[in-house]
Amino acid sequence: MHENDAHCALDGYVAFAGLRDAVAAADTAYVFTASSGDFLQGGAMGTLSKGEYPVEVIRRVGYDVMIPGNHEFDFGMERLLAFCGATEADDKARKGHCVDCPVICANLVQLDTTGSRGPERIFPAWKISKAGNKRIGWIGMTTPQAVFSEADSFWDEQGRHRYDLEETRLAEILQQSIDEVRAQGADYIILLSHLGDRPGKDTPVNCRTVVKATHGVDVVLDGHNHDLIPGDTLYDANGNAVLLVQCGSKFSHIGKLVIHPDGKMTHETLRVKDIPYRSEKVQATLDSIKVLTDDLLNRVIGKSAFSLLADDGHGKRLVRNQETNLGDFVTDALRQASGADIALINGGNLRETLPAGTLTYHDLFDTLPYHNVLCVISASGHQIRQVLGNGLQLYPVESGGFMQVSGLRYTIARPAQEQPYHIASVEVLDADGQYRPLDEKRHYSVAINDYILNGGDGNTALCDCPVLKRLSPPDTRIVSLFLEKDCKGVVPARYAHPQGRILIKD
Ligand SMILES: [Zn+2]
Repeated sequence: MHENDAHCALDGYVAFAGLRDAVAAADTAYVFTASSGDFLQGGAMGTLSKGEYPVEVIRRVGYDVMIPGNHEFDFGMERLLAFCGATEADDKARKGHCVDCPVICANLVQLDTTGSRGPERIFPAWKISKAGNKRIGWIGMTTPQAVFSEADSFWDEQGRHRYDLEETRLAEILQQSIDEVRAQGADYIILLSHLGDRPGKDTPVNCRTVVKATHGVDVVLDGHNHDLIPGDTLYDANGNAVLLVQCGSKFSHIGKLVIHPDGKMTHETLRVKDIPYRSEKVQATLDSIKVLTDDLLNRVIGKSAFSLLADDGHGKRLVRNQETNLGDFVTDALRQASGADIALINGGNLRETLPAGTLTYHDLFDTLPYHNVLCVISASGHQIRQVLGNGLQLYPVESGGFMQVSGLRYTIARPAQEQPYHIASVEVLDADGQYRPLDEKRHYSVAINDYILNGGDGNTALCDCPVLKRLSPPDTRIVSLFLEKDCKGVVPARYAHPQGRILIKD
């Protein structure tokens, strides 16, 4: 049984473990549980505890094998290693705060800054599980995209490159791992992957490219793109069929791969909503966590007559390739609180739709789970245009760096044949309420989060901009105050629909 991209949807673990226990009790099958990564971050429970609550629940589930996803690096490398039980810390401290299961990853290495040694792997590349007289080989790999998107974890304060994900050697590393696992007698090989199933913004490699360049993998249990792939067939370098599956995100689905006695494999993708089983043990752990957080999270901060959209409710992440009313509302809050001319937020920062009806701090926390610091910088019109353009690198495909805006509007031009999409025009809102063309040479004050300022999503354009101020409440709190105080607890009707800040030119 497997899942990917749980992103702090902790209730899902109760059903996941419940089903696992039910199968183990009712069936003669050997049952194994695996995670394809992205569990520490992406919801209130992760942010509030810097990853500790999800880890507590995962430990209670008792996994057989996991890999780190890119978001496991969000709280820094040290915290990731501690959570995975890979630090030098004494055993007692480690046991209390780690996932307590084997973590594997063939392509995460520590670089030797003195140059005297080669890269050293942090986790084992693979592991073998025994099921009667059969052996299952698991190989772990995670996306090199993390080196760009979670750069802080891979470089130290002195700017030294300390860790890497070996982007250019993935196929070579995978083949080597396959050969090792086969030599150890593995009958089946499962690639536990957070490589994703399509090219990323900064890297073309994904599970399809590495499978095609190697031979010997039987199944890929993938994560990263939050896609629902009930079963796709890839072909390896020898032309053998390889099953690829991915289970959406936030426990919308889990996967059940069955290896039958004759070696035949079947796979089912199960809607978590439809799973009738619950693990009481995991529920008890979750309940004890909720006692600590309920007072804060259940506080009502306002209401809305309509939903503020991050996605379309079916997995399409609207904030990553178009203006949404949520993007308008949040950026207006950031601009208002900061007093800046312009506010920008990357679509990847807006994780969940704010539903119509009563809104609690928990709802807002799930929308803005990262607790980013809002900075006001001085940026030239040219730099602002670069940041907007960076958000279009994958357009019209979803991209986390796509910018939602306040205080300006911009037009995306459809390309001439074979050309990429680009920014056709940018206009800035003047004090008189009129939009006027962006002056490339003039400097504007821009409110932006520390993630983008530090180069997140490949935004290098702003790294040298002077920081005018840093606001002390995190972005989540700023938006909550905007709703509670400025909007008097009711999301204004003007946010019922997008306001025409991001236009597409035919
Ligand atoms: Zn994810």
